[in-house]
Amino acid sequence: MTQICLVGIGKIAVDQHVPAIGGSDDWVLAATVSRAGTVDGVPSFSDFDQMLAERADIPVISICLPPVPRYDYAVKAIAAGRHVMLEKPPGATLAEVYALADMAQKAGVTLYTTWHSRMAKGVAPAKTWLADKTITRAHICWKEDVRRWHPGQDWVFEPGGMGVFDPGSNALSIITEILPMPIHLRSADLQFPANRDTPIAAQMQWTQNVSGDFDWRQEGPQSWDITMETTAGTLHLHDGGDRLITDGKEIVAGNNREYPALYGRMAELVKNGASEVDVSPMIHVADALTLGRRITVDPFHF
Ligand code: NAP
Repeated sequence: MTQICLVGIGKIAVDQHVPAIGGSDDWVLAATVSRAGTVDGVPSFSDFDQMLAERADIPVISICLPPVPRYDYAVKAIAAGRHVMLEKPPGATLAEVYALADMAQKAGVTLYTTWHSRMAKGVAPAKTWLADKTITRAHICWKEDVRRWHPGQDWVFEPGGMGVFDPGSNALSIITEILPMPIHLRSADLQFPANRDTPIAAQMQWTQNVSGDFDWRQEGPQSWDITMETTAGTLHLHDGGDRLITDGKEIVAGNNREYPALYGRMAELVKNGASEVDVSPMIHVADALTLGRRITVDPFHF
């Protein structure tokens, strides 16, 4: 088993990373770095430099911080010769991620920009099913309650937090994986709360008749759905990609194994001396923020 250090003990670290590492035969959680968070029974540091200096025996760092602070930590980890796994979205900007990829390559370490939704059970079979189809229309409906999934996390509404594109990038990571043809954004309406710096909702239109409706104000049942109409039938992905229905027949019912699959992939990459860096979902977010029309809506308070 390989020792790994988890940086940023917040919501996603506790909900997903700690259990995924704990249930893996590849990894042992050897240290954590967080200003406030700890994991029972695991040595904890509040200072990243100190951890790097004192724990040269830990070769892999998994960074679960929000996107803005993440880059500086990744640079230090790579400079210290450690392999690095990044939560999604992998950076606050595209240029940051390209810079990290370059540094990792020069340092000879693995860099893995994870996109957890791509590991949802229905995604790989959806890609296979679509590979020989002609898509006539596709639509993303990604509507969830920000208060439930990001309770009190003001960073999502600060510059670099990406607003509704924080969860929206999960949908974008799926469509960039399964679409058999490239698309690019034609237009976007972005709804910014009057008191915030990032959008709370977005309506997007891409080439090839692909559209998306993203909203962070949905209470009650949550919607993480993608529909693709083709000349040979219709595909539905539900539950963030875990359920796949083609031509009305359910062919996969998943059980949320996304994070164990990410850690399995990281183990393979480290073993093979490889990296996996993909910014394609972020390109659509950057394009929306470049091209989108700004609409001011009611202020938002947690
Ligand atoms: P979070 O709980 O708000 O933050 C994670 C940790 O980062 C916090 O515990 C905090 O730890 C540390 N942190 C926050 N701001 C910092 C700063 N400026 N400098 C240094 N450390 C800082 O966020 P999260 O929900 O876990 O999300 C983290 C990442 O995971 C995001 O990129 C998000 O997109 C992704 N993600 C989240 C979810 C979800 O459901 N929330 C799902 C999938 C992926 P300390 O204060 O203890 O240092």
